[in-house]
Amino acid sequence: MTTGFIHHPASLLHDMGDDHPESPARLQAILDRLKSSGVWQKLDVYLAPMAEDRHLLTVHLPRYLEQVRRLAPKHGLVHAGPDTLMGPHSLEAALRSAGSGIQAVDGIMTHLYQNAFCATRPPGHHAEPGTTMGFCFFHNVAVAARYLQREYGVRRLAIIDFDVHQGNGTAEVFRGDPDVLFISSFQHPFYPHSHWQADRSNLLYSPLPAYSGGELLRQIWTDDWQPALREHSPEFILLSAGFDAHREDPLAELEWTTDDYRWLTREIMTEAQTGGARGRVISFLEGGYNTHALADSVQAHIEELVVAGHPEY
Ligand SMILES: [Zn+2]
Repeated sequence: MTTGFIHHPASLLHDMGDDHPESPARLQAILDRLKSSGVWQKLDVYLAPMAEDRHLLTVHLPRYLEQVRRLAPKHGLVHAGPDTLMGPHSLEAALRSAGSGIQAVDGIMTHLYQNAFCATRPPGHHAEPGTTMGFCFFHNVAVAARYLQREYGVRRLAIIDFDVHQGNGTAEVFRGDPDVLFISSFQHPFYPHSHWQADRSNLLYSPLPAYSGGELLRQIWTDDWQPALREHSPEFILLSAGFDAHREDPLAELEWTTDDYRWLTREIMTEAQTGGARGRVISFLEGGYNTHALADSVQAHIEELVVAGHPEY
């Protein structure tokens, strides 16, 4: 057993303009680093298929799918939201981002690999059922969660979101769903300024003040996240893996380090292996806007997935 790595060249063609932080250079830096560091050779690499309407409609509204398709331009850029743009390749990239989770679920459930990293863009955790938001078109994690439940009957899930921004889309989809425990850390107060109060029993939020650093992360893991995971005992864990809490990141101020990401990933994987998830974890790339820090952090994160999926490394 090993680690699946799901990507597609279309992810590199979705381009929202030279000044946009969510750029193809982010993914290119990750691919370059994995290849130059030798991690690439340890991965089981697959191309992301396009998600089909039957997958997307488990999360998104029919009129929203029509709206996104209608908006997709043949040339140039159009606004799909205040901070989210579409070019000629964006629709395909968004469909393949959502499809990456379908591939990862199938791969793990049919024992092709033990866990997986979806290295696609656009990201997904800000997308709501009827709204493009925060660089996100389709909610990749939610689409995979619903696919796991419907296709494979895996009911009890945990979604852990450690992106520096609150996953408002995830909250919107799963709020009040007793089968899905949604755990989220985020800088507060901060974008998206919504869904920051855990007002249902399946939500566990850890709002963190700016400059709080990795020590507080370790504390919330031990005090809150680990006990909640053990109590919920998920059969499968999905990660919204944003790396924009890194101290080098230009968009936020949480001051985490690459070692903090490595530590957190190791803790999550240990919990996944000893609990009911039996090591089944899919991690989805969300944010992370300093390409060097992003490459460092993703490398550390994937190395821990590889160790968990393939103990002899
Ligand atoms: Zn983010």
